[in-house]
Amino acid sequence: MLGMVYKVVEQLFAKKSTNYFPSKYILEDTATTLNKGAIHPPIAVKEGFRGRLEYNVETCTGCGLCSKVCPANAIELYPALINDKKTKRIVIYLSRCTYCQECVTICPKNSIQITSHFCMADYNKYNASLVVGFEHRQKFEIKEEGSTDVQKEGD
Ligand code: SF4
Ligand code: SF4
Repeated sequence: MLGMVYKVVEQLFAKKSTNYFPSKYILEDTATTLNKGAIHPPIAVKEGFRGRLEYNVETCTGCGLCSKVCPANAIELYPALINDKKTKRIVIYLSRCTYCQECVTICPKNSIQITSHFCMADYNKYNASLVVGFEHRQKFEIKEEGSTDVQKEGD
């Protein structure tokens, strides 16, 4: 019993051996260790690894095919005003994505790509870091009365 209490107290005051996430919270001594050692992020991943999706708002035509095939309902189409034309664009909620790649395959404009980036931790799944196309939405969305955010509806 005494041994257990000793262990608990010891653990309470022990130096942390893991990092805080996301990586912006990395401890200074951990960063130094990484720089001195052989591990240098970004860390290579195996071929075929499916990481963070990338979206090209310039080539996207707003056809909506990607959101139709997405099995996870992770892609939301929103009305947008681009070059004075009313059209549509998308956002991708990475917290819902299963990385099945259906959207990548179906997009006729190759506007969605899979990358090898895997550091995607955040405290809020609606933060810009976890919503691909977030900043474009801020810029181009036409706010329509009664429009909804499907992600938050079925949360
Ligand atoms: S990779 Fe799959 S789950 Fe993720 S957004 Fe594309 S279609 Fe949806
Ligand atoms: S399928 Fe491609 S072009 Fe069509 S809305 Fe999706 S990203 Fe845009």
